[in-house]
Amino acid sequence: MIGVFGGTFDPVHYGHLRAVLELNAVFNLSQMRMVLCARPAHREQPKAGVHHRLAMLRMALANHPHLILDDQECQREGSSYTVDTLSALRMAYPSMPLLLFVGSDAFSGFEGWHRWQYIVELAHIVVVNRPASTRLSVGSFFESRITNNALNLRENLAGSVFFQNVTGLTISSTAIRYMIATAQDPSFLLPDAVVAYINDVGLYQS
Ligand code: ATP
Ligand code: MG
Repeated sequence: MIGVFGGTFDPVHYGHLRAVLELNAVFNLSQMRMVLCARPAHREQPKAGVHHRLAMLRMALANHPHLILDDQECQREGSSYTVDTLSALRMAYPSMPLLLFVGSDAFSGFEGWHRWQYIVELAHIVVVNRPASTRLSVGSFFESRITNNALNLRENLAGSVFFQNVTGLTISSTAIRYMIATAQDPSFLLPDAVVAYINDVGLYQS
């Protein structure tokens, strides 16, 4: 099974990193791909440029070669759509189940994603708990696809919705950006190397 964990990573933090590490182990993935969403279509544009976010992600993953940095959305022109990324992976790996990991907050807005119904034909969706996010309501489209049996993920290429808990870390990029803009030290919420990069380049300073 191939795992896909997308984000704007503006900046990447331990909430993301701890989650991908645990998910990679829980599902015994043959690949865990962290996909940088270069130009999101359905949310506010990131504060840091693509190259800075990519550099920070690369630093964060430097000592973890089993976590793959996937920059395909940086290579494409225009808005970054998860459906395009999953289509490319489906073509490259025709017989591998794809697991798309989304935080519970991101899943709440899933029906606004470009071609969201088709996404479920390309991949399973694994909803990851996000502390402090509002209670999840699952629409009828997804209700019938929910499975509690992880074997269903392995035995089918796509189509199921599964819920998976990870260690709850109440960390967000928004809060980190705010701390930096207000001259607070964000250390221990994200890797030291990323903090150093942010300071060197002067990112997020209001
Ligand atoms: P922002 O505050 O800018 O939205 P963020 O911290 O939410 O940033 P994103 O890049 O938006 O980070 O998130 C990428 C993915 O990681 C989403 O699916 C999101 O739900 C998930 N995620 C982010 N933070 C956490 C966390 N602390 N625990 C679990 N999942 C998380
Ligand atoms: Mg977010």
